[in-house]
Amino acid sequence: MDYAAFFQSRIDALKSEGRYRVFAELARRNGAFPAATRYVDGETAPVTVWCSNDYLGMGQNADVLAAFHAAADECGAGAGGTRNISGTNRHHVALERELASLHGKEAALLFTSGYVANQTALSTLGTLLPDCVILSDALNHNSMIEGIRHSRAEKHIFRHNDLAHLEELLAAQPIDRPKLIVFESVYSMDGDFGPIAEICDLAERYNALTYLDEVHGVGLYGATGAGVAERDGVMDRVDIIQGTLAKAFGVIGGYVAARADICDTIRSYGQGFIFSSALPPAVAAAACASVKVVRSTPSLRETHQERAATLKHLLLEWRLPVMRSPSHIVPVLVGDAERCKRATDMLLEDFGIYIQPINYPTVPRGTERLRLTPSPVHDDLQMRRLVEALTAVWRRLDLQAAA
Ligand SMILES: *Cc1c(COP(=O)(O)O)cnc(C)c1O
Repeated sequence: MDYAAFFQSRIDALKSEGRYRVFAELARRNGAFPAATRYVDGETAPVTVWCSNDYLGMGQNADVLAAFHAAADECGAGAGGTRNISGTNRHHVALERELASLHGKEAALLFTSGYVANQTALSTLGTLLPDCVILSDALNHNSMIEGIRHSRAEKHIFRHNDLAHLEELLAAQPIDRPKLIVFESVYSMDGDFGPIAEICDLAERYNALTYLDEVHGVGLYGATGAGVAERDGVMDRVDIIQGTLAKAFGVIGGYVAARADICDTIRSYGQGFIFSSALPPAVAAAACASVKVVRSTPSLRETHQERAATLKHLLLEWRLPVMRSPSHIVPVLVGDAERCKRATDMLLEDFGIYIQPINYPTVPRGTERLRLTPSPVHDDLQMRRLVEALTAVWRRLDLQAAA
């Protein structure tokens, strides 16, 4: 085996398809988000970031940073172990209590990321529930797919948001067989919502548990930012709510919130929980401060929605092909991998605007797009510069205008 030739051929395959990923090396500027400094070929250039998932700019919030510093001074850098072996710090416990309260659940369980939360919780539930069958939305995130796969439970995929198809699959199972319905509240690439109430109706009718990924909903929807399930008044009907501390909350970490018996089971059997070191206490303290600020500041959510609506409106006004999205996510269609990459290169090099191209396999071929995430820290002037730059790039690359 010529290992070097093999690995090079794998990389070349991506390059020939225009799918090879190049990272922009940035230093985000605290206090000046969405401004960042880009490092390229030994030089620096100022950029405006338009594709961050720090949806509310909480990564630079003063309370969050104060909590971060204070806990680092108090407890040092790392947790010192897994949660089981010396790693459980009082800041983890306080954060879990805060998250349980946010979601109106008895308990919450912290993981090092939202990815690990999904992978561990789903693999544990799917393994432990006897003869479990898992019903999974076709557009579910890779972390859920991996968790389900690892559980080796029988899996059926229902067409995206298709309640009739989900019901058909549920009805085909014996009523007493354990079932888990796995879905999301906001699908991150199209920005559409999952029908949470209707899925809960089906779960009750067919004796299933519900597992909801609220990664793109927490902090952003509902009166206290508990997510779309809170907005829809169905939080108490969802059995397991999973979320991240890395997007709207601006830090890092993931969690599930559920009944105490479910959290305790995942705590006791989940391998990605048991065998991995705990988050640094300062991270937990910063995340906890962020949750508290976001819960008690509805104006953050109002401004976030206003910014998204304003940007969508502006894009339409400038006849840029913004895709219909009911949420805060603003996709703009390019429809071609190569030109999607060229458009974003041009935006970065010529206009100092950083937007990562979204290509296959993240989205289907032919729907390659720019995914814009306006936030309360993006002002009118930055929006104006964005649409001007997009218009210039659209003209240069002869891209399709809005219909
Ligand atoms: C980002 C993401 C995750 C993973 O969360 P991290 O905290 O970034 O690991 C899980 N689910 C969805 C839908 C995501 O977009």
